[in-house]
Amino acid sequence: MLDFTALPALTHGTLLRTPPRPAPVHQLLLDSRRIGQATGSVFFALRGPQHNGHVYMPELYARGVRLFVVDRAAEIPGGLLAYPEAGILLVDDALDALQTVAAAHRRRFRVPVLGVTGSNGKTIVKEWLAQLLAPDELICKSPRSYNSQVGVPLSVWELNATHTLGIFEAGISQRHEMARLARIMQPTLGLFTNIGTAHDAGFTNHREKVEEKMQLFLDVDTLFYCLDHELIHAAAQQHLPEHRTFTWSRLHPHLAHVAVTVAESSGDRMVARVSLARPLPQEHTFTLPFADEPSVENALHALAVLLWRQVPAAEIQHRLDRLQPVAMRLEMKQALNDCYVLDDTYNNDLAGLNLALDVLARQPRRGRRTLILSDVLESGLAGAELYARVAAQLATHGVERLVGVGLEIKHHQALFQQVEATFYNTTDDFLRQFRPDAFHQETILVKGARRFGFERIVTAFQRQIHGTVLEVDLEALAQNLNFYRSRIQPGTRLMVMVKAFAYGSGSYEVANLLEFHRADYLAVAYTDEGVSLRQHGISLPIMVMNPSPDAFQVLRQYHLEPEIYSFERLHDYLTAARQQPLPAIHLKLDTGMRRLGFSETDLPELCALLRDNAAHLRVASALTHLAGADEEQHNSFSEQQLAAFQRMTPQLEEALGYSILKHALNSAGILRFPEAHMDMVRLGIGLYGVEATGREQDALRPVSTLRTTISQVKTLPPGETVGYSRRGQAVEYERRIATLAIGYADGYDRRFGNGAGEVVVRGQRAPIIGNVCMDMCMVDVTHISAARAGDVAEIFGPQLPLPELASRIGTIPYELLTNVSERVKRVFFTE
Ligand SMILES: *Cc1c(COP(=O)(O)O)cnc(C)c1O
Repeated sequence: MLDFTALPALTHGTLLRTPPRPAPVHQLLLDSRRIGQATGSVFFALRGPQHNGHVYMPELYARGVRLFVVDRAAEIPGGLLAYPEAGILLVDDALDALQTVAAAHRRRFRVPVLGVTGSNGKTIVKEWLAQLLAPDELICKSPRSYNSQVGVPLSVWELNATHTLGIFEAGISQRHEMARLARIMQPTLGLFTNIGTAHDAGFTNHREKVEEKMQLFLDVDTLFYCLDHELIHAAAQQHLPEHRTFTWSRLHPHLAHVAVTVAESSGDRMVARVSLARPLPQEHTFTLPFADEPSVENALHALAVLLWRQVPAAEIQHRLDRLQPVAMRLEMKQALNDCYVLDDTYNNDLAGLNLALDVLARQPRRGRRTLILSDVLESGLAGAELYARVAAQLATHGVERLVGVGLEIKHHQALFQQVEATFYNTTDDFLRQFRPDAFHQETILVKGARRFGFERIVTAFQRQIHGTVLEVDLEALAQNLNFYRSRIQPGTRLMVMVKAFAYGSGSYEVANLLEFHRADYLAVAYTDEGVSLRQHGISLPIMVMNPSPDAFQVLRQYHLEPEIYSFERLHDYLTAARQQPLPAIHLKLDTGMRRLGFSETDLPELCALLRDNAAHLRVASALTHLAGADEEQHNSFSEQQLAAFQRMTPQLEEALGYSILKHALNSAGILRFPEAHMDMVRLGIGLYGVEATGREQDALRPVSTLRTTISQVKTLPPGETVGYSRRGQAVEYERRIATLAIGYADGYDRRFGNGAGEVVVRGQRAPIIGNVCMDMCMVDVTHISAARAGDVAEIFGPQLPLPELASRIGTIPYELLTNVSERVKRVFFTE
């Protein structure tokens, strides 16, 4: 085990503080929110455009972390004296040091490592190869898609002496990054999946991108690739002699090691005929359990590796039959008795368990955190040590209840005495004894190795849910947040509007994510929205825009900060504040919206009141709202508003005798008036994936997808009408009509009726026919012959963008989002 005192020589760093005792390095820690075990963790204080790791040192130290790698001595909060028990290493660049440490770890193990890169399919190819080679090897692989400049070091760090093969993926977005990843990973084998348009921005052309990716493979003994990608083939020929490549092809069978011809392809499988010239001429036929092109290409890459290893054909087929689609994201599902289930039923190794527990720990508290866990496989550790580590992870992640399934975990049940635990021999045993009422208001992580078939457990937990679902992609939300963050100065604060059920997306899930990503403030419209966030454990400052005057005590109790917009409200608040201290307020200034707020002519009176009551009242901020921030035509009006605001606020500050936060801009304003960000901006619709100015929509990812299912498909003879009032007009030909399980009570606007709206079924648009009913509506699917009951219909989402849909009925995306009724179940996705 590497000791901390070996790091200075390795990284050319200087020990600012020598650890008082030997300090073996067990974990590399980059994120203060993800402390597993503090002892033996080394924190690398990385920095990014919006982020400086040094800031978290006091918090980490308080939580027991004792080893730090920093690159700015002057930025250590409190100076060295604040960390008497610590070891602190100063290096030139903390990221570089992290990579050097990982590279040194990698060098200790003389095992083959397969590096996977390419534009698409990296994670799937890696996961499939791990599945297909599992019978022969003990594999260490990157968790999920840990393939970046920090992901690769963390992946490689997981290697230990028991592994016989490493499979790691590498992803880059700029030039010169791949050489760094190659230095860490030191691959002996390589697989180049393909080249496409992903991450094009950092490169001048595809050739340059291929050349950059090739840097991973310069020292490999064998590179696997598909010869049909011409640029990849050219680059491989340039850098590697023929005998260090192993190729497959569908277009040039005589040039490749493996020639593939498609014999037959149907909906869900493909039969491939494969011939090899070497070592002996041979022909085989394999059935791949997929037929879509990306899956087929990924599977053929994996197949090439197996053929190269000379795994017998019958055995290859046997393994292919058990190949599973890879779940790329953790799904959060609403379940019975107010529980939520985090579905991670695909694999179960230690690194993956740790990641999934991180996600569990980040969920808002709704009662207990529960884990349903199968035997942990492929760890290379003896049972006692393995389950002791699992038990430690449960403790650090606040798991209170464990259901263990499998003989091994049951055998080690004595290690789990700190949680409420029950054990079963098999999944069937669990299901036989399953009593729904034994789970109540819990967040349940279901994590099992594939062969335990835990998807059956998830199904058992899922309430019979209404066919209409709003999917909220929390990962997209986080990306949109980062996009707006990249547009504001590091010192500008970010308030996020989570009013109206977070624009329909689900208040506490969104608020929880925002808290995790360190937003500065939240804002809601009404007091009870704020109370509900507090009851779900949200601790960020919250502004309430329209507090009810009779509930000031509630504001106090839940520490909610009211917006005050009139003298009447101010007097009420002051009266209450004289009895008992109340939270700070936000002053709303009306500069032209003419809705709520103090006008410029109110200022003298307002200032006098503030001055006289300085002892009872604290003002946190002053704000105004632009009437036309999103449109060019209102620019001069917006500028007048901003100028008025800038005239008014100094007077307030003068009266108060201290400075307050000043903020004016919503999502559109953030992008259009960068010079007016002031102390804080208020992000709303942009977070939810709609770019209100319409100019930078491509920079955002859609967050919400509203989808429903087809309940029935009918064939209508010519001349028949559809629905209420016979509004679905008769036509001359035979039609197929699908009835969808969504209506205006779900928030699907009646104005979409009679052809105004469309939905997407099997990738094609289908127009609404007849009137939208309360719980249902009908679409014409005559041209979509495959449409049948049970199919999903997208109402809005990636295939049917909200702005388009809104304009069809003359409204704005805000209305469509917030109209989705609360009876529609929200399903949340995270990475
Ligand atoms: C809703 C709201 C915002 C956010 O507006 P978006 O257009 O959704 O970005 C900002 N400020 C105030 C006062 C709001 O009410």
